[in-house]
Amino acid sequence: MKSKLLCQSCHAEYSSSEPRWNCTCGGLLTLDFHARFPISNIKKRKPNLWRYREALPINQDRHIISFDEGFTPLIQEEVFGKKVLLKQEHLFPSGSYKDRGASVLVSKIKELGLKKVVEDSSGNAGAAIAAYCAKASIDCHIYTPEKTSPEKLIQIKQYGAHLHVVQGSRKDTALAAWNHAQTTYYASHYWNPYFFHGTKTCIFEIVEQLGWKTPDVLIIPVGNGTLLYGSYIGLKELQQENIIDKLPRIIGVQAENCAPLANAWKNKDEPTSGNSPKETIAEGIAISNPVRANDILHSVKETNGDILTVTEKEILDALYYIRKKGYYIEPTSAVVLAALKKHHLHKNQVVVLPLTGHGLKHKE
Ligand SMILES: *Cc1c(COP(=O)(O)O)cnc(C)c1O
Ligand SMILES: [Zn+2]
Repeated sequence: MKSKLLCQSCHAEYSSSEPRWNCTCGGLLTLDFHARFPISNIKKRKPNLWRYREALPINQDRHIISFDEGFTPLIQEEVFGKKVLLKQEHLFPSGSYKDRGASVLVSKIKELGLKKVVEDSSGNAGAAIAAYCAKASIDCHIYTPEKTSPEKLIQIKQYGAHLHVVQGSRKDTALAAWNHAQTTYYASHYWNPYFFHGTKTCIFEIVEQLGWKTPDVLIIPVGNGTLLYGSYIGLKELQQENIIDKLPRIIGVQAENCAPLANAWKNKDEPTSGNSPKETIAEGIAISNPVRANDILHSVKETNGDILTVTEKEILDALYYIRKKGYYIEPTSAVVLAALKKHHLHKNQVVVLPLTGHGLKHKE
Protein backbone atom coordinates (compact mmCIF):
# COMPACT_ATOMS: atom_id res chain seq x y z
CA MET A 1 0.00 0.00 0.00
CA LYS A 2 1.96 2.98 -1.26
CA SER A 3 0.97 6.37 0.06
CA LYS A 4 2.46 9.81 0.56
CA LEU A 5 1.62 13.08 2.24
CA LEU A 6 1.16 16.17 0.03
CA CYS A 7 1.11 19.82 1.10
CA GLN A 8 -1.89 21.79 -0.14
CA SER A 9 0.04 25.08 -0.06
CA CYS A 10 3.58 24.48 -1.40
CA HIS A 11 3.04 20.98 -2.89
CA ALA A 12 5.91 19.47 -0.90
CA GLU A 13 5.82 15.66 -0.60
CA TYR A 14 6.59 13.52 2.43
CA SER A 15 6.84 9.79 2.86
CA SER A 16 3.98 8.39 4.94
CA SER A 17 6.58 6.77 7.21
CA GLU A 18 7.54 10.25 8.44
CA PRO A 19 5.68 11.41 11.56
CA ARG A 20 4.32 14.59 9.96
CA TRP A 21 0.95 16.20 10.70
CA ASN A 22 1.52 19.43 8.77
CA CYS A 23 4.02 20.76 6.23
CA THR A 24 7.22 22.55 7.23
CA CYS A 25 5.66 25.59 5.47
CA GLY A 26 2.70 25.35 7.86
CA GLY A 27 0.35 24.05 5.18
CA LEU A 28 -2.30 21.33 5.49
CA LEU A 29 -1.39 17.84 4.36
CA THR A 30 -3.56 15.47 2.38
CA LEU A 31 -2.87 11.79 2.05
CA ASP A 32 -2.32 10.47 -1.46
CA PHE A 33 -3.47 6.88 -1.22
CA HIS A 34 -5.16 4.41 -3.57
CA ALA A 35 -8.16 2.84 -1.83
CA ARG A 36 -9.53 -0.45 -3.17
CA PHE A 37 -12.82 -2.24 -2.55
CA PRO A 38 -12.76 -6.01 -3.16
CA ILE A 39 -16.49 -6.35 -2.52
CA SER A 40 -16.78 -10.14 -2.31
CA ASN A 41 -14.01 -10.22 0.32
CA ILE A 42 -15.44 -7.27 2.22
CA LYS A 43 -18.83 -9.00 2.54
CA LYS A 44 -17.25 -12.00 4.28
CA ARG A 45 -15.57 -9.95 6.99
CA LYS A 46 -16.69 -8.95 10.48
CA PRO A 47 -19.16 -6.04 10.64
CA ASN A 48 -16.74 -3.33 11.70
CA LEU A 49 -15.03 -0.46 9.93
CA TRP A 50 -11.85 -2.48 9.31
CA ARG A 51 -13.77 -4.63 6.79
CA TYR A 52 -12.71 -1.94 4.27
CA ARG A 53 -9.12 -2.99 4.92
CA GLU A 54 -7.80 -2.20 1.43
CA ALA A 55 -9.15 1.34 1.77
CA LEU A 56 -7.42 2.05 5.08
CA PRO A 57 -3.85 3.43 4.99
CA ILE A 58 -2.19 1.20 7.59
CA ASN A 59 0.55 -1.09 6.31
CA GLN A 60 0.52 -3.95 8.79
CA ASP A 61 -2.47 -5.56 10.51
CA ARG A 62 -0.56 -5.95 13.76
CA HIS A 63 -0.63 -2.17 14.23
CA ILE A 64 -4.42 -1.93 14.10
CA ILE A 65 -6.01 -0.53 17.28
CA SER A 66 -9.68 -1.44 17.23
CA PHE A 67 -12.63 -2.31 19.45
CA ASP A 68 -14.42 -3.91 16.47
CA GLU A 69 -16.20 -0.57 16.12
CA GLY A 70 -18.40 0.61 13.30
CA PHE A 71 -20.98 -0.84 10.95
CA THR A 72 -23.52 1.18 12.91
CA PRO A 73 -27.19 0.56 12.14
CA LEU A 74 -28.84 2.55 9.35
CA ILE A 75 -32.48 2.69 10.27
CA GLN A 76 -35.56 4.01 8.48
CA GLU A 77 -37.48 6.57 10.49
CA GLU A 78 -40.12 9.20 9.98
CA VAL A 79 -38.78 12.53 11.25
CA PHE A 80 -40.99 15.63 11.11
CA GLY A 81 -43.21 13.81 8.62
CA LYS A 82 -40.32 12.94 6.31
CA LYS A 83 -39.02 9.45 5.58
CA VAL A 84 -35.27 9.39 6.18
CA LEU A 85 -32.50 7.01 7.16
CA LEU A 86 -30.73 7.61 10.47
CA LYS A 87 -27.15 6.36 10.78
CA GLN A 88 -26.69 5.66 14.47
CA GLU A 89 -23.19 7.03 14.92
CA HIS A 90 -23.74 7.66 18.62
CA LEU A 91 -23.38 3.89 19.20
CA PHE A 92 -19.59 3.79 19.34
CA PRO A 93 -17.33 2.63 22.21
CA SER A 94 -16.57 6.20 23.28
CA GLY A 95 -20.01 7.52 22.35
CA SER A 96 -19.44 9.29 19.04
CA TYR A 97 -18.39 8.65 15.44
CA LYS A 98 -15.01 10.21 16.31
CA ASP A 99 -13.96 6.62 17.09
CA ARG A 100 -13.71 6.05 13.34
CA GLY A 101 -11.01 8.69 13.03
CA ALA A 102 -9.35 7.68 16.28
CA SER A 103 -9.08 4.00 15.30
CA VAL A 104 -7.27 4.78 12.05
CA LEU A 105 -5.15 7.65 13.40
CA VAL A 106 -4.01 5.82 16.55
CA SER A 107 -3.23 2.73 14.44
CA LYS A 108 -1.03 4.97 12.30
CA ILE A 109 0.60 6.39 15.43
CA LYS A 110 1.30 2.83 16.57
CA GLU A 111 2.78 2.06 13.16
CA LEU A 112 5.01 5.15 13.38
CA GLY A 113 6.25 3.87 16.75
CA LEU A 114 5.32 7.05 18.63
CA LYS A 115 4.90 6.96 22.39
CA LYS A 116 3.23 10.30 23.10
CA VAL A 117 0.61 12.48 21.39
CA VAL A 118 -1.32 15.69 21.94
CA GLU A 119 -4.87 16.57 20.83
CA ASP A 120 -7.40 19.33 21.49
CA SER A 121 -11.14 18.99 21.35
CA SER A 122 -14.46 20.25 22.62
CA GLY A 123 -14.90 16.77 24.08
CA ASN A 124 -15.75 13.90 21.78
CA ALA A 125 -12.58 13.81 19.68
CA GLY A 126 -10.53 14.02 22.88
CA ALA A 127 -12.48 11.15 24.42
CA ALA A 128 -12.05 9.05 21.27
CA ILE A 129 -8.29 9.66 20.99
CA ALA A 130 -7.93 9.01 24.75
CA ALA A 131 -9.79 5.69 24.45
CA TYR A 132 -7.69 4.38 21.56
CA CYS A 133 -4.45 5.63 23.12
CA ALA A 134 -5.45 3.77 26.29
CA LYS A 135 -5.85 0.57 24.27
CA ALA A 136 -2.55 1.19 22.49
CA SER A 137 -0.64 2.23 25.67
CA ILE A 138 0.28 5.59 24.16
CA ASP A 139 0.78 8.61 26.42
CA CYS A 140 -1.98 11.05 25.58
CA HIS A 141 -2.43 14.76 26.34
CA ILE A 142 -5.87 16.26 25.69
CA TYR A 143 -6.59 20.01 25.74
CA THR A 144 -10.21 21.08 26.19
CA PRO A 145 -11.96 24.43 26.63
CA GLU A 146 -13.22 25.16 30.15
CA LYS A 147 -16.84 25.06 28.93
CA THR A 148 -16.70 21.40 27.87
CA SER A 149 -19.41 19.11 29.30
CA PRO A 150 -18.16 17.71 32.64
CA GLU A 151 -19.22 14.21 31.52
CA LYS A 152 -16.75 14.38 28.64
CA LEU A 153 -13.94 15.63 30.91
CA ILE A 154 -14.50 12.75 33.32
CA GLN A 155 -14.46 10.29 30.44
CA ILE A 156 -11.13 11.63 29.11
CA LYS A 157 -9.54 11.44 32.56
CA GLN A 158 -10.88 7.96 33.29
CA TYR A 159 -9.24 6.67 30.11
CA GLY A 160 -5.99 7.74 31.76
CA ALA A 161 -5.20 10.69 29.49
CA HIS A 162 -3.56 13.87 30.81
CA LEU A 163 -6.32 16.47 30.72
CA HIS A 164 -5.43 20.14 30.23
CA VAL A 165 -8.43 22.41 30.72
CA VAL A 166 -7.74 25.75 29.04
CA GLN A 167 -9.24 29.02 30.30
CA GLY A 168 -10.68 30.92 27.34
CA SER A 169 -12.19 30.02 24.01
CA ARG A 170 -12.09 26.92 21.81
CA LYS A 171 -9.52 28.82 19.75
CA ASP A 172 -7.27 29.39 22.80
CA THR A 173 -7.46 25.65 23.45
CA ALA A 174 -6.37 24.86 19.91
CA LEU A 175 -3.44 27.25 20.25
CA ALA A 176 -2.28 25.67 23.53
CA ALA A 177 -2.36 22.21 21.94
CA TRP A 178 -0.67 23.46 18.80
CA ASN A 179 2.17 24.88 20.92
CA HIS A 180 2.58 21.57 22.75
CA ALA A 181 2.49 19.77 19.39
CA GLN A 182 5.65 21.59 18.28
CA THR A 183 7.63 19.11 20.37
CA THR A 184 5.45 16.02 20.02
CA TYR A 185 3.02 14.46 17.53
CA TYR A 186 -0.27 16.25 16.95
CA ALA A 187 -3.07 13.68 16.85
CA SER A 188 -5.38 16.46 15.71
CA HIS A 189 -8.74 15.43 14.32
CA TYR A 190 -8.69 18.35 11.90
CA TRP A 191 -4.99 18.84 11.02
CA ASN A 192 -4.08 15.18 10.79
CA PRO A 193 -5.14 13.58 7.47
CA TYR A 194 -5.31 10.08 8.96
CA PHE A 195 -8.29 11.06 11.07
CA PHE A 196 -10.28 11.83 7.91
CA HIS A 197 -9.28 8.45 6.46
CA GLY A 198 -11.11 6.96 9.44
CA THR A 199 -14.22 9.12 9.31
CA LYS A 200 -14.58 8.31 5.60
CA THR A 201 -15.68 4.78 6.57
CA CYS A 202 -19.10 6.12 7.57
CA ILE A 203 -20.05 6.64 3.92
CA PHE A 204 -18.53 3.26 2.93
CA GLU A 205 -20.96 1.64 5.38
CA ILE A 206 -23.93 3.70 4.18
CA VAL A 207 -23.20 2.79 0.56
CA GLU A 208 -22.84 -0.91 1.45
CA GLN A 209 -26.01 -0.83 3.59
CA LEU A 210 -27.89 0.63 0.61
CA GLY A 211 -26.74 -2.27 -1.58
CA TRP A 212 -23.66 -0.43 -2.90
CA LYS A 213 -25.67 2.59 -3.95
CA THR A 214 -25.31 6.22 -2.92
CA PRO A 215 -28.05 8.10 -1.12
CA ASP A 216 -29.39 11.26 -2.81
CA VAL A 217 -28.75 13.58 0.11
CA LEU A 218 -26.46 13.53 3.15
CA ILE A 219 -27.18 16.03 5.93
CA ILE A 220 -24.14 16.42 8.21
CA PRO A 221 -23.24 18.66 11.17
CA VAL A 222 -20.15 20.70 10.38
CA GLY A 223 -17.59 22.58 12.47
CA ASN A 224 -14.11 21.36 11.57
CA GLY A 225 -15.63 19.04 8.99
CA THR A 226 -14.29 15.68 10.15
CA LEU A 227 -17.46 13.89 9.08
CA LEU A 228 -18.34 16.16 6.17
CA TYR A 229 -14.95 16.24 4.48
CA GLY A 230 -14.28 12.64 5.52
CA SER A 231 -17.49 11.63 3.72
CA TYR A 232 -16.35 13.50 0.62
CA ILE A 233 -12.98 11.71 0.64
CA GLY A 234 -14.77 8.36 0.95
CA LEU A 235 -17.21 9.18 -1.83
CA LYS A 236 -14.41 10.17 -4.20
CA GLU A 237 -12.60 6.91 -3.47
CA LEU A 238 -15.76 4.89 -4.14
CA GLN A 239 -16.34 6.82 -7.33
CA GLN A 240 -12.77 6.37 -8.51
CA GLU A 241 -13.10 2.61 -8.10
CA ASN A 242 -16.44 2.62 -9.96
CA ILE A 243 -18.36 1.38 -6.93
CA ILE A 244 -20.70 4.36 -7.30
CA ASP A 245 -21.26 6.67 -10.23
CA LYS A 246 -22.93 9.73 -8.73
CA LEU A 247 -22.26 11.73 -5.58
CA PRO A 248 -25.00 12.62 -3.09
CA ARG A 249 -25.67 16.26 -2.31
CA ILE A 250 -23.74 17.05 0.87
CA ILE A 251 -25.65 19.47 3.07
CA GLY A 252 -23.68 20.83 6.02
CA VAL A 253 -25.44 22.25 9.08
CA GLN A 254 -24.06 24.84 11.51
CA ALA A 255 -25.46 26.56 14.58
CA GLU A 256 -26.52 30.08 13.63
CA ASN A 257 -24.54 31.33 16.65
CA CYS A 258 -21.28 30.02 15.20
CA ALA A 259 -21.52 29.77 11.43
CA PRO A 260 -18.32 30.85 9.66
CA LEU A 261 -18.78 28.22 6.93
CA ALA A 262 -22.43 29.04 6.29
CA ASN A 263 -21.50 32.72 5.99
CA ALA A 264 -18.64 32.01 3.63
CA TRP A 265 -20.90 29.77 1.55
CA LYS A 266 -23.65 32.37 1.32
CA ASN A 267 -21.29 35.23 0.52
CA LYS A 268 -19.05 33.14 -1.77
CA ASP A 269 -16.26 34.38 0.40
CA GLU A 270 -13.36 33.24 2.55
CA PRO A 271 -14.51 32.30 6.06
CA THR A 272 -13.84 35.16 8.43
CA SER A 273 -12.33 34.16 11.73
CA GLY A 274 -12.03 37.59 13.33
CA ASN A 275 -15.60 38.04 14.57
CA SER A 276 -16.32 36.45 17.93
CA PRO A 277 -19.06 33.84 17.72
CA LYS A 278 -21.81 33.50 20.29
CA GLU A 279 -22.17 30.47 22.50
CA THR A 280 -24.15 27.52 21.24
CA ILE A 281 -25.64 24.41 22.77
CA ALA A 282 -24.11 22.58 19.79
CA GLU A 283 -20.69 22.47 21.48
CA GLY A 284 -19.37 19.78 19.13
CA ILE A 285 -19.43 22.13 16.14
CA ALA A 286 -18.68 25.49 17.84
CA ILE A 287 -15.63 26.18 15.66
CA SER A 288 -15.01 29.83 14.74
CA ASN A 289 -11.99 29.24 12.48
CA PRO A 290 -12.16 25.83 10.73
CA VAL A 291 -8.68 25.19 9.34
CA ARG A 292 -10.03 22.94 6.56
CA ALA A 293 -12.61 25.49 5.42
CA ASN A 294 -11.49 25.26 1.81
CA ASP A 295 -11.78 21.47 1.77
CA ILE A 296 -15.26 21.68 3.31
CA LEU A 297 -16.53 24.38 0.94
CA HIS A 298 -15.11 22.50 -2.04
CA SER A 299 -16.87 19.27 -0.94
CA VAL A 300 -20.21 21.06 -0.69
CA LYS A 301 -19.73 22.85 -3.99
CA GLU A 302 -18.71 19.80 -5.99
CA THR A 303 -21.70 17.82 -4.75
CA ASN A 304 -24.14 20.65 -5.49
CA GLY A 305 -24.84 20.82 -1.77
CA ASP A 306 -25.57 23.61 0.67
CA ILE A 307 -24.70 24.85 4.16
CA LEU A 308 -27.65 25.66 6.40
CA THR A 309 -27.95 27.21 9.85
CA VAL A 310 -30.30 26.46 12.72
CA THR A 311 -31.14 28.49 15.82
CA GLU A 312 -30.69 27.42 19.44
CA LYS A 313 -34.46 26.95 19.80
CA GLU A 314 -34.66 24.84 16.66
CA ILE A 315 -31.81 22.64 17.93
CA LEU A 316 -33.47 22.04 21.31
CA ASP A 317 -36.90 21.42 19.74
CA ALA A 318 -35.39 18.81 17.40
CA LEU A 319 -33.42 17.25 20.27
CA TYR A 320 -36.48 16.76 22.47
CA TYR A 321 -38.52 15.55 19.49
CA ILE A 322 -36.09 12.79 18.53
CA ARG A 323 -35.51 11.69 22.13
CA LYS A 324 -39.26 11.10 22.36
CA LYS A 325 -38.78 8.65 19.51
CA GLY A 326 -36.15 6.79 21.53
CA TYR A 327 -32.91 8.20 20.12
CA TYR A 328 -30.81 9.50 23.01
CA ILE A 329 -28.41 11.88 21.28
CA GLU A 330 -26.53 14.99 22.33
CA PRO A 331 -27.63 18.51 21.31
CA THR A 332 -24.95 18.89 18.59
CA SER A 333 -26.34 15.83 16.83
CA ALA A 334 -29.81 17.39 16.66
CA VAL A 335 -28.75 20.17 14.28
CA VAL A 336 -29.29 17.92 11.26
CA LEU A 337 -32.82 17.10 12.39
CA ALA A 338 -33.56 20.79 12.90
CA ALA A 339 -32.29 21.46 9.39
CA LEU A 340 -34.35 18.60 7.96
CA LYS A 341 -37.49 20.13 9.43
CA LYS A 342 -36.97 23.37 7.49
CA HIS A 343 -35.47 21.95 4.33
CA HIS A 344 -37.56 21.08 1.30
CA LEU A 345 -36.89 17.58 0.02
CA HIS A 346 -38.11 15.99 -3.17
CA LYS A 347 -40.32 12.97 -2.76
CA ASN A 348 -38.65 9.57 -2.95
CA GLN A 349 -35.19 10.94 -2.30
CA VAL A 350 -32.97 8.74 -0.17
CA VAL A 351 -31.84 11.03 2.64
CA VAL A 352 -29.31 9.97 5.27
CA LEU A 353 -28.64 11.80 8.54
CA PRO A 354 -25.95 10.67 10.99
CA LEU A 355 -26.72 10.87 14.70
CA THR A 356 -23.20 11.80 15.73
CA GLY A 357 -22.97 11.70 19.53
CA HIS A 358 -24.56 9.96 22.53
CA GLY A 359 -26.86 11.91 24.85
CA LEU A 360 -25.44 10.45 28.07
CA LYS A 361 -22.38 12.69 27.68
CA HIS A 362 -24.39 15.85 27.96
CA LYS A 363 -26.65 16.98 30.77
CA GLU A 364 -29.05 18.93 28.57
C1 LIG B 1 -17.19 16.29 16.15
C2 LIG B 1 -18.67 16.27 16.15
C3 LIG B 1 -19.42 16.69 15.04
C4 LIG B 1 -18.82 17.23 13.77
O1 LIG B 1 -17.86 18.17 14.03
P1 LIG B 1 -16.68 18.60 13.07
O2 LIG B 1 -16.07 19.73 13.84
O3 LIG B 1 -17.30 19.06 11.79
O4 LIG B 1 -15.76 17.50 12.89
C5 LIG B 1 -20.78 16.56 15.10
N1 LIG B 1 -21.40 16.06 16.19
C6 LIG B 1 -20.72 15.64 17.27
C7 LIG B 1 -21.47 15.09 18.42
C8 LIG B 1 -19.33 15.72 17.28
O5 LIG B 1 -18.66 15.30 18.36
ZN1 LIG C 1 3.99 23.21 2.35
